Amino acid sequence: MSQTFEINKTTKFNMKIIWFSLLFIILLGSCQKRYEGKVIAFVGAKLINGTKTDPIKNSILLIHEGKVVDVGTTNEVTLPDNAQIIDATGKYIMPGIINAHGHIGGTEGLKGGKYSRANVIRDLKLNASYGITTVVSLGGDGQASFDIRNQQNTKDLKRSRLFVAGDIVVGNEIEKVIKTVDKNANNKADFIKIRVDDNLGVSNKMPKDIYEAIINRTHEKNLRLASHLYYLEDAKSLLKVGTDYIAHSIRDQEVDEEVIQLMLEKEVPYCPTLMREVSTYVYENRPAFFDDPFFLKSVDQEILTALQDSARQKRIQNSERLQSYKTALKMAQKNLKVLADKGVNIVMGTDSGPAGRFQGYFEHQELQLMEEAGLTPEQIIYSATGGAAKALQLKGIGTLEKGNWGDLIILDKDPLKSIVNTTSISSVWIAGNKIQ
Ligand SMILES: [Zn+2]
Repeated sequence: MSQTFEINKTTKFNMKIIWFSLLFIILLGSCQKRYEGKVIAFVGAKLINGTKTDPIKNSILLIHEGKVVDVGTTNEVTLPDNAQIIDATGKYIMPGIINAHGHIGGTEGLKGGKYSRANVIRDLKLNASYGITTVVSLGGDGQASFDIRNQQNTKDLKRSRLFVAGDIVVGNEIEKVIKTVDKNANNKADFIKIRVDDNLGVSNKMPKDIYEAIINRTHEKNLRLASHLYYLEDAKSLLKVGTDYIAHSIRDQEVDEEVIQLMLEKEVPYCPTLMREVSTYVYENRPAFFDDPFFLKSVDQEILTALQDSARQKRIQNSERLQSYKTALKMAQKNLKVLADKGVNIVMGTDSGPAGRFQGYFEHQELQLMEEAGLTPEQIIYSATGGAAKALQLKGIGTLEKGNWGDLIILDKDPLKSIVNTTSISSVWIAGNKIQ
């Protein structure tokens, strides 16, 4: 080293040579960056990374040990010489979709109350096959779901990720509801879920002093509270008391400035669950989607037959309550557009999972109803990827940025042109593993 300093002191020319040599060595080093073990390179796609930035045309996305290690244009990213190359020329890559409100593992056919570990896994695989790579389950989650949630930070993952709320907190006795919150908290639930709704007059609404006690306890435990609701006034009251998440649309009337300001001030996410409304009345007749191959690929004929039972159809046609959800859907769509334009954090969610609410398929339908409501494909994709992860504080997912899990969908058609193109699935990858 001392000799080198001697040379540096003698001529500026030699100094330059040394600096250039160093630069060359650094550049050479970065060009030759190697990854131990398997590294996958998705090459040539137009890549939507799940943030609000413009898509990357002609991209390279590198995934190593299940995570994104580099992403950029073909000029910016160097292909490691040991990379397994996936040619995605002419295709579109977007992050895996996040369903911000689902229910996992509780249904068999059209029967509820069938929660089991096997059904949880079945549902997570079904979701994965549709590119719904994460589901936030807002209630009805048994111990198996917590275990499954705890085992997903692995490069070997081959099903969708799960976040859980545990038991939904119901009732109007303080001791009981607090006990349920504590049980969920001990299990490290991602959210505590309550319902503040009278189901259009057929049940008793949770009283304010009860949900106030639940919210306070939830916050004492450093957890976040998700609210099922219907009415504008309940939304305002819940926001004032401190709900952290509005898990359904406000459907009784148009949103006003007060509720918008409450949501903006506290940055509370808002989940429209438009397909939940559709599911209440759509089986009054044979739905058009019963002819959609994208739906039919994963549904049993038995279920289709049962849903076309004429007595069932008549019951729906004659139910004033169920029919009223048609108006509720229109109101929900109108409110969604207003809230999105005002900058409220919209997170895509369906409330799928219960009977007749088909996981995987319904999420894509939800995206289309959001487009029908007037949201742009950019807004919708953000609400179902990076925006959802950010608003719900889901770590390591939602965007295809360095350090995040390699959860992604490859599409044949551009979802930014029309959101229906999210159904043009070429393949789905979770933690860099090909699902289908
Ligand atoms: Zn729900």
